[in-house]
Amino acid sequence: MKNYKLVMYLRLGLLTLFAVLITIAGYLHIVKGGGKSPSIHALCPFGGLESLFQLFATGSFISKIFAGTMILFVITLVVSILFRRSFCGLICPFGAIQELVSKMGQKIFRKKFIIPSKIDKPLRYLKYIVLIVTVFYAWKTAGLWMSPYDPWSAYAHLPEGLESVWSESAVGLILLVVILIGSFLYDRFFCKYLCPMGALYGIIGKISPFKLVRNENICINCGKCNKVCPMNIDVQNSKEVKSAECINCQTCVLNCPKSGTLYSKVQKKSVKPLVAIALVMVVFWGSIFAFQKMGVYQLLPEQIKSGESITFDEVKGYMTITEAAKATKTKLEEFYKKFEIPETVPPETTMKSISKIVPDYELDKIKEKTKSSN
Ligand code: SF4
Ligand code: SF4
Repeated sequence: MKNYKLVMYLRLGLLTLFAVLITIAGYLHIVKGGGKSPSIHALCPFGGLESLFQLFATGSFISKIFAGTMILFVITLVVSILFRRSFCGLICPFGAIQELVSKMGQKIFRKKFIIPSKIDKPLRYLKYIVLIVTVFYAWKTAGLWMSPYDPWSAYAHLPEGLESVWSESAVGLILLVVILIGSFLYDRFFCKYLCPMGALYGIIGKISPFKLVRNENICINCGKCNKVCPMNIDVQNSKEVKSAECINCQTCVLNCPKSGTLYSKVQKKSVKPLVAIALVMVVFWGSIFAFQKMGVYQLLPEQIKSGESITFDEVKGYMTITEAAKATKTKLEEFYKKFEIPETVPPETTMKSISKIVPDYELDKIKEKTKSSN
């Protein structure tokens, strides 16, 4: 197999691997509870951006966001400063899902559809509006207000069943279906038009020293680069790709038939596609590993230490009923009575999930009651 094909498969393989790992984490969060596996919000750098104002104003994070999410957000910003929108092209799990769906569509239709430029160009600004609106309301409400409208959150909650996702985030589910259909027909549909983080990384990447250049003296104008670019950038007629849309996927470089025509460069040094991918991986995963070693990459709520007792008021939504009874030093039977939990609810249910089985169950109200009865 030719070297360039190996690198193309390597990139897609890495993207797919991250998507699988995140999907497993999301699944474990649902089946094991928020105290054992991080939520999809904690694992998404957008959560860090949403929590930024709250962090500066009060020194705390918004619900479901932890120090690790903030660190993840900062690492992705550093990746953008160094390597432009590489997070989108080489790491983002939602990018991987779009690419896999697009590949299926292209196999079935045997062609790549492209939205006419008159519609495509104005639509590309939509993601900047999404960025401004979502961040404004997240900072204003100091919460994950977007969660019911978030297609990524809807995807992560699919293991709960369609009915449950529909009842909690119908808009998010509809958007997820629209994005999947869009990706089936068009490359990187969500990245191009809707992703707020893609918009932010694109703007920040403008200051990056990492460039993609074309040597026009040896280019044979075959048009292959334009044809394969998932972001539909006019590489063939650019001396240097300056577009904030470029996700540094290296597809154009790897498909260019005239070796040495298209290449990435930092300062005056050219960087081979495999090296470019490896550098991004080292910076991204190396930073996460380093913060983990320092013990600050925290993505889960502080756990109640074994043997430590808490009051009823301190019962957390991520605890299972059994864990909460144990932590409050109450017999399980008594705890069910105290928290008005019907016997039909299994003890391994998390406190916040009781309302999914008993729709009118309101944990906060019951906690208030237990407070006043103490
Ligand atoms: S694929 Fe390479 S040779 Fe062909 S137009 Fe693009 S840069 Fe030029
Ligand atoms: S210009 Fe090249 S590196 Fe950038 S998105 Fe298009 S194919 Fe990928």
